[in-house]
Amino acid sequence: MPPSKPRVIYWFRTDLRLHDSPALAAALDLDPEVFYPIWTWDPHYVYRARVGANRWQFLTDCQRDLSSSLTKLNPKQKLHLIREAPQTVFPKLFKLWRITHLVFEKDTDAYARDRDRGVMKLAEDAGVEVIVKMGRTLYDPDELVKHNGGRPTMSMAQTQKAAAALGDPAKPIPPPTCLPDPGDTDLSSIDHQRPDPNPDLNAAHRDLSNKESQYTSIMGPNKDFSIPTLQEMGISGATTPNRGGETIALRTLDTIISNSDYTGLFEKPKTAPTAFSPQSTTLLSPHHHFGSLSIRLFYWRVQEIYQKRKRAKKPNSSIPENLHGQLLFRDMYFGAQAAIGAPFAQEVGNPICKFVDWHLRSNLNENNLLAGDYIVDNSQAELYFRRWKFGVTGFPWIDALMRQLRLEGWIHHLGRHAVACFLTRGGCYVHWERGAEVFEEWLIDHEVACNSGNWMWLSCTAFFSQFFRVYSPVAFPKKSDPAGAFVRHFVPELKNFDQKYIYEPWRAPIADQRKWGCLVQGDGSATQTHEREDGLQVYPKPMFDFDERRKFCIEKMKLAYHVGMQGDDPRVLDGSWKEVFGYKIERKGEVRDETNGVVLADGRNQEDDEDGYGDEAGGRKKKKRVKIAADPGREGDNDRVKNGKHATAENDKKKTLPKPPAKGGKGPKREQATLEMMVGTGRKKTKR
Ligand SMILES: Cc1cc2nc3c(=O)[nH]c(=O)nc-3n(C[C@H](O)[C@H](O)[C@H](O)COP(=O)(O)OP(=O)(O)OC[C@H]3O[C@@H](n4cnc5c(N)ncnc54)[C@H](O)[C@@H]3O)c2cc1C
Repeated sequence: MPPSKPRVIYWFRTDLRLHDSPALAAALDLDPEVFYPIWTWDPHYVYRARVGANRWQFLTDCQRDLSSSLTKLNPKQKLHLIREAPQTVFPKLFKLWRITHLVFEKDTDAYARDRDRGVMKLAEDAGVEVIVKMGRTLYDPDELVKHNGGRPTMSMAQTQKAAAALGDPAKPIPPPTCLPDPGDTDLSSIDHQRPDPNPDLNAAHRDLSNKESQYTSIMGPNKDFSIPTLQEMGISGATTPNRGGETIALRTLDTIISNSDYTGLFEKPKTAPTAFSPQSTTLLSPHHHFGSLSIRLFYWRVQEIYQKRKRAKKPNSSIPENLHGQLLFRDMYFGAQAAIGAPFAQEVGNPICKFVDWHLRSNLNENNLLAGDYIVDNSQAELYFRRWKFGVTGFPWIDALMRQLRLEGWIHHLGRHAVACFLTRGGCYVHWERGAEVFEEWLIDHEVACNSGNWMWLSCTAFFSQFFRVYSPVAFPKKSDPAGAFVRHFVPELKNFDQKYIYEPWRAPIADQRKWGCLVQGDGSATQTHEREDGLQVYPKPMFDFDERRKFCIEKMKLAYHVGMQGDDPRVLDGSWKEVFGYKIERKGEVRDETNGVVLADGRNQEDDEDGYGDEAGGRKKKKRVKIAADPGREGDNDRVKNGKHATAENDKKKTLPKPPAKGGKGPKREQATLEMMVGTGRKKTKR
């Protein structure tokens, strides 16, 4: 006999809250006979997405807080955390618990769309009705796209126009005041399908002495649906002071809203990226990511302040700098991602992303999506990347930010601007996908749409195109923090330096360096960052001359803009972009691209001038030929990089570059391609 009342699974994913949850409200409106609030411990996120210890901690904070809130509403309730992939566990749950309805919040991320399509098919096969409600953004990203002529939302103007057609965001709804009981929950009778942990993109975070046990039992070690501990995940080392959960999120929002001037006058460009403890912006982004704070609640509480201030004839800041503007930026990226799908998070196949011949290009899988590894086509670029990631570039502002990111999982938006520009078009000329991966690993607020979108913005490959505007690692932080308090905190080696040298410590006289307890020397490799025998600390020399690199990058960007190729250009995928960019194809027709998984000594041209580029004024810069020594650390490596291991695809032949193609649009001043593509096999001497 069919059940008389609905038997409902509520599937928590991006909405770890009780307040203002349209999907949760829809589930409870069914007046269920039994109600199962669940979370599936999806191996995709456990093994195939990059997640560091701090974000795991934030997630499990949110889950624990939610679970206790559920229990407060009904002592028989909790968050039932099920340790299996949703794709395999749902058919078993539908049957065992005689489910009639499955309800969840809409998620427009590419993986989530695929997963949800699969789960909805399983539900249909099992005769289960599926209810999906939007609640993650101010507007449904698909609706924004529809009202933007079916195109990705690429600017605030487009986003605002599409939003205006949709009207105000929906008003928040109150949290539930009671919950039905769950039915029988015992899952011991069903087969437990354990996932294959390989490949594990988070292997670097797992302490192998601490064997992971997260999937040993479907209901957890005590068969009580417990939330996995970091220890069960084999992960240790969470260091962030920023903790998760709806309770904290609502308290933080109250504090922000209670400060009318802060809320009403908030202007993002005027907030200091160097402020810490407290930071100058809201730090609500991780709560938005995990849904522990409703974006609509935030919007409407800010709106109340705007209205109150308006009535009191007090000024308010406006879009895009104000808080509403920040939320609209978020919606803009979600809209762009929703229109493009999986290629939004990469260059290849992405119609909005300008193609640039960055170093350290990604390998692709059989579907032309990121395979999780990359090619080291240039060992110096790899070195720049490593030094950037671990905060030992020798530029204190960049290093302080990267150390804050690693330690705390969050940095200010303009700090993100600084490090992203530095890694890509403002210094290292390394692919933005490498930077986005580091952010994916370390940010507690990592959001595919916002991360990829902002990385494209900062690398001037989409959304923004003023590539000649480059952030200086010296002048920029001085504006908000001339004394260098931020650097002193996160780069304590430099804490005693005079403020004259805090952003350029290499300029300090040696006698002063000694007096202040830290010598500026070496390349930041592990042994050199330790204290020396004489008790002095060591901070590295800058890894390059910033001004030279800035010019180099601008020239390269000019060429990329001149060529004007987008990521979905067939030449990007088949490797013929190399010809277009002036790389000589040695054996026509036989050129294989690293991105297709085969690495060749790729036959591209290069000229070994020491700086890797010609001068801006016209003729070639007088070149100093550098004998490039093989990097001993790289000898015998494979060609691919998997999970941080090195690879080489290097070719140090010297040839002349052909002219870049004569195409429309503004080209570089010099038509002859003196724009160097360094493919050195070893480290070049860094000039000071
Ligand atoms: C290279 C780079 C990568 C980024 N990666 C992410 C990411 O993975 N996840 C993420 O949420 N944000 C990302 N951002 C955007 C932005 O830096 C953060 O949202 C913001 O710094 C979060 O701090 P806050 O909560 O104090 O922001 P506030 O300034 O207080 O803004 C309020 C809210 O608006 C949203 N918001 C603000 N700025 C942006 C923006 N530019 N893009 C999208 N949403 C915004 C956030 O939800 C934020 O909580 C990135 C920015 C850059 C430059």
